[in-house]
Amino acid sequence: MIELAKIPFPEVKQLADGGLALTILPVGVVEEHGAHLPLGLDSFAAEIYAASAAPHLEAAGYEVLVAPTINYGVARAAIDFPGTLSLEPETLRSMVVEIGRSLARHGLNRLVILNGHRDLHHMKALDDARAILIAEQVARVMVVGFASDAEMTSACYRDGVKQFYQSPRPDREGHGGESETSVALHSFPDLVKHQVIPELTPNFDYDVDAFRNEAKSYWSISDGRGYFGWPQAATAETGAKLVAVRGGNIARVILKEWGSPGKL
Ligand SMILES: [Zn+2]
Repeated sequence: MIELAKIPFPEVKQLADGGLALTILPVGVVEEHGAHLPLGLDSFAAEIYAASAAPHLEAAGYEVLVAPTINYGVARAAIDFPGTLSLEPETLRSMVVEIGRSLARHGLNRLVILNGHRDLHHMKALDDARAILIAEQVARVMVVGFASDAEMTSACYRDGVKQFYQSPRPDREGHGGESETSVALHSFPDLVKHQVIPELTPNFDYDVDAFRNEAKSYWSISDGRGYFGWPQAATAETGAKLVAVRGGNIARVILKEWGSPGKL
């Protein structure tokens, strides 16, 4: 896996000329995730899943290039929490389109948008960007991770992980809960407020439909707590398993769609 921002331009030309390059663009957001987790969690998670998926794609013959993460996104549901920042969907869409066009201009025309943030407007903006790039025929583009297509989200994040959860109410785990806290404990423990976690009571009894449809703000449906589920159920071991399985899942959905690379 090669980080685009860390190499000089001749190496990009080499990668493009080789015809095996696949670029992953991680997308996150700056959004509250409870009092125990950092605002950048979804961006960090997208990067971690990219790194976890990369070896599988490389084994299939791709040269995986990771573009710098888009750290800003659309975060309307959590906007009442200090530090949450939201773009307008058009802004995010434009960023992705313009990055995709620039990559394609240099012959990097396989683009995987790996999204770590679940928000309906955010995901639609990514879909719209994908549709524009495909219509312009500049690149092959996929959106993986959290996607408007619920089956895609499941195939990336939910397949093969159920048995890892320890929460008494796995159906009520969500934003800032067992899954995200576990990934944080494994992948960036220094950014977790460990001392806060024992104080976090379970939040199982919330308006699930309003949460999923973003019909009400996170503040109102979590009583200002900002997490859904029970962060105390999280462990670093669970996080390690989630990262490994989800990385494999993401690679699998990409390979299912595009197969192994033929030399251009
Ligand atoms: Zn999140």
